[in-house]
Amino acid sequence: MGAPITIIGSGHAGITLAREVRRLSPDVAIRVLTRDDGHYYYKPDLSKAFAAGKDADGLIKNTAEQLIETMKIELKPRTTVTRIEPAAHRVWVGDEVLDYSKLILATGAAPIRLPLTGTAADEVMAVNDREDYARFRAAIPPGARVLIIGAGLIGCEFANDLAAQGHVVHVADLAGWPLPRLLPEAQGQALQTALSGLGVQWHLRTSIASLDRADTVITVRFADGSTQTVDVVLSAVGLKAATQLAAEAGLTTRHGIVVDDHLQTSAADVYALGDCVEINGRLLPYILPIAHSARALAATLTGTPTKAKFPAMPVIVKTPACPTLVNPPPMVEGAWEVSGLAPDLEAVFKDASGKPVGFALTGAATSKRAQYLPLMPPVYEPAN
Ligand SMILES: Cc1cc2nc3c(=O)[nH]c(=O)nc-3n(C[C@H](O)[C@H](O)[C@H](O)COP(=O)(O)OP(=O)(O)OC[C@H]3O[C@@H](n4cnc5c(N)ncnc54)[C@H](O)[C@@H]3O)c2cc1C
Repeated sequence: MGAPITIIGSGHAGITLAREVRRLSPDVAIRVLTRDDGHYYYKPDLSKAFAAGKDADGLIKNTAEQLIETMKIELKPRTTVTRIEPAAHRVWVGDEVLDYSKLILATGAAPIRLPLTGTAADEVMAVNDREDYARFRAAIPPGARVLIIGAGLIGCEFANDLAAQGHVVHVADLAGWPLPRLLPEAQGQALQTALSGLGVQWHLRTSIASLDRADTVITVRFADGSTQTVDVVLSAVGLKAATQLAAEAGLTTRHGIVVDDHLQTSAADVYALGDCVEINGRLLPYILPIAHSARALAATLTGTPTKAKFPAMPVIVKTPACPTLVNPPPMVEGAWEVSGLAPDLEAVFKDASGKPVGFALTGAATSKRAQYLPLMPPVYEPAN
């Protein structure tokens, strides 16, 4: 048998692709190499796991053994790929060399680390996978005081999840309202008010000057001069696409690994999908783009070259205190138009020509998704 289709990464992107390939071809050899334990979990569950009463093992949907058995794949956990060699069609795992027929990079993204100062700067946690979640969960006893740095999607979701479970939550952000990149101010304030109702305390329009440990507590000093004592600090300031393997092999990377309409990188027979990818100048670090990518790429890998198409893909923000749905606008000139009474607000983002290119709904207005979705342009539709 020839060299297998080889996928690096067993996150949602890697495993969804493996499933799609297997659906189209019962026989093709598929190998998945992954740095982690290979158990499949649904990453969005991480930021609602406290309310669901789930520990890290409770989040597993399929063990690595189940994936191997049901999908008839080779899956190698705890296997970090250290180098890829596209010209030779092989990858390196330390000293071991493995051949591939086609290679797919599904290496995800890693939390951005802020350059913080103080004796507790190294203790800042981030939750981007199940193992991070296990460490974080172990670090916060009932009623713990938690500072979340970053009021974006992940920061707000954790704030809701932790506060609803009785933790004392502080959220800090340079911006003036939560979800500043996804919501206009009025909706951000509606979300802020709802989370404040759960006891969340806000430190907005300021940054962290220092984090210092004294005995069992951490003193947070903000740039505006205020201070706060907490037990744990969680950073949720965003993710950076994992481009290193690709860049070191000479593949084109910018904010992510650059791929064409077929999700092929700048190297022959090397493809990429998921959080590590940049397509048409955009990162698409969400679940729905992975579904569209995996379907198209599986067809390409099994002999039917297929371009990936991305329709409008709204994201549900998991903040039950204030239900929120957003169809993120692209980075273009434009302005939000907001209507309704807080917290039930409808917002449409119009570009400079007045065309609606994004929308956001909060509170009871989230029921109007079907009304707005048809107005939205696709995120990316390649020419035929
Ligand atoms: C807390 C949280 C909540 C979220 N909620 C939502 C949501 O509600 N809706 C939504 O649409 N999106 C959400 N997202 C985003 C979504 O989960 C991601 O877009 C998606 O899971 C990314 O999957 P991925 O497979 O590309 O990356 P990852 O899950 O990061 O997987 C990367 C894989 O690559 C492996 N790997 C990396 N480097 C190597 C190497 N050198 N060798 C071997 N293996 C390697 C890793 O071990 C891992 O298996 C959320 C994200 C987080 C963190």
